[in-house]
Amino acid sequence: MYRAFLIKYGEIGVKGKNRYVFEDMLVKQIRFALNPVDGEFEVRKEQGRIYAEVISDEYDYDETVAALKNVFGIVAFCPVVLVDDEGFDKLAEDVVRYLKAAYQKTDFTFKVNARRARKNYPMNSMEINAALGEKILDALPETKVDVHNPEVMVSIEVRNQINIYSTEIPGPGGMPVGSAGRAMLLLSGGIDSPVAGYMIAKRGVEIEATYFHAPPYTSERAKQKVVDLAKIVAKYSGPIKLHVVNFTDIQLYIYEKCPHEELTIIMRRYMMRIAQHFAENHKCLGLITGESIGQVASQTMQSLMVTNEVCEMPVYRPLIGFDKQEIVEISEKIGTYETSIQPFEDCCTIFVAKHPVTKPSLKVIRNSEKKLEEKIDELMQEAIDTTETILVEA
Ligand code: ATP
Ligand code: MG
Repeated sequence: MYRAFLIKYGEIGVKGKNRYVFEDMLVKQIRFALNPVDGEFEVRKEQGRIYAEVISDEYDYDETVAALKNVFGIVAFCPVVLVDDEGFDKLAEDVVRYLKAAYQKTDFTFKVNARRARKNYPMNSMEINAALGEKILDALPETKVDVHNPEVMVSIEVRNQINIYSTEIPGPGGMPVGSAGRAMLLLSGGIDSPVAGYMIAKRGVEIEATYFHAPPYTSERAKQKVVDLAKIVAKYSGPIKLHVVNFTDIQLYIYEKCPHEELTIIMRRYMMRIAQHFAENHKCLGLITGESIGQVASQTMQSLMVTNEVCEMPVYRPLIGFDKQEIVEISEKIGTYETSIQPFEDCCTIFVAKHPVTKPSLKVIRNSEKKLEEKIDELMQEAIDTTETILVEA
């Protein structure tokens, strides 16, 4: 029955002159999301509205709804019936036919909510409300009008074509990806970092990712798990360039030269340095991690300070004030949880000390890093040169 979807967007509506840019981004992201869906669509802007109209004979309604639910910037969308203006009587017939098709039982309460965006329509919205309400009551005598708390809100928008709809499906909100620049996500196989990436992408930020892989201590399966997670995040963020850094030699070198209780913190400083290198080369404006205060030894305020010290660009930590349970809930909602809990080791778990420092001193850590002077530059360069970049699409 539905051949089009009316897209409602919130925040981007208030951006003044930038509004057009944002709308264009949203149109682009919607096209992108609908690409893999069974069916062909035309996505267009029209008088402060965005429509995704079906142009193929058939399409998969459920797939379309699922795809639109993932597009940041969409506040809600309505499966809509578009009809040509052929006079009020024809409109009333169309509306009644629509209601009969959309609802098996017609004993609902309703309210007509008309909007006349095209002012040359011969009736104003109040007149449409009243006249249509009567027509519906006549044709469907089991219905009742309830203007305060209707079960069915029959929306009519008079535009180039007339829009008839009564269902509103919530979207994810946020801003269209690409409207806010690009950032580099440090993506591990855990629960937190995919959620962090999702949250920053939701604000309109395009995502690239860096994963530190430590073969043979971490298996191909562990790497595949990270690719799988990137694939799920890409459903929301669009394609992700994933840089897989071979981190083994750096880790072994730190292991050989530095006190073991400092391994994690020093390793994290090198992760930040390398991620930053790729971030700079790929026009990213910041780094993103899944850190949250106090979650583990490397995420105390002192550890975060010492890790952060090597960063020359902003580090976005959207989970910083979240409890684990809250993060788990988001990961379940966005669909990364089941993958995140697959039991593959990551490079940190192999090299963790029994008693890592929880209050590292910057001076001490810097001193320890001096012991790496001989080879570390060469090893970093090698890690950068041998990095494999994978384009991950949903
Ligand atoms: P996550 O659940 O995201 O793995 P975590 O609770 O295991 O986080 P840590 O291992 O301390 O916490 O990692 C903190 C953050 O550092 C991660 O959220 C991620 O952004 C980054 N990180 C950790 N390990 C890696 C890795 N192997 N590759 C890329 N980034 C990593
Ligand atoms: Mg982890």
